[in-house]
Amino acid sequence: MNIILFGGPGAGKGTQALKIAQEYKIPHISTGDMLRGAAQETSPLAQKIKDTMQRGELVSDELLREIVAERLNKSDCTHGVILDGYPRTLGQAKDLEEILNKLGKKIDTVLYIAVPEEELVRRLSLRGRADDTLDTIKNRLKVYMSTTRPVLDYYQEKGLLQTVEGVGDIEAIFKKVKETLAGKKLRS
Ligand code: AMP
Repeated sequence: MNIILFGGPGAGKGTQALKIAQEYKIPHISTGDMLRGAAQETSPLAQKIKDTMQRGELVSDELLREIVAERLNKSDCTHGVILDGYPRTLGQAKDLEEILNKLGKKIDTVLYIAVPEEELVRRLSLRGRADDTLDTIKNRLKVYMSTTRPVLDYYQEKGLLQTVEGVGDIEAIFKKVKETLAGKKLRS
């Protein structure tokens, strides 16, 4: 199954993605993790990525397309993947479709972890990652609302969206995630 995990910054995508990857034995592809890795290098591009992330803005669709296409081409992706943090723009959603088309694959489901905005702010302020300063948090939420949220409507219209309430205990949320994915499997 090719799954997209969707949600605001701080919705718990990373946590649930790791658990899904373990349970279904598919690779967890986090563009945030990949970009954090790329930002560690010493090159002008690495510095640019680092600055963009530090501001809470989005790295370019072109760069993401290259990174994701290369990753999805690897042999461990044959039986499905869990995408965490991609796509985040409508352009990326279209790029992903092209990438998957070329590989003869498709998105099976888009799982939306729904968390209210006040709760996202609360969680991000507690997390303490390098890009979790107050200004960056505010900007990431702004970018999410203006640029990433529309991707949700796009998948809703395509009939791919499934929603899980993301507030509460991690294991309880994971149980709902599994039930939702099991339902999807039965139908498809
Ligand atoms: P995340 O770990 O998913 O919260 O991502 C951390 C940061 O990496 C984001 O705030 C963006 O600056 C960058 N990033 C991750 N995924 C993407 C993406 N799909 N498109 C653009 N920028 C991204």
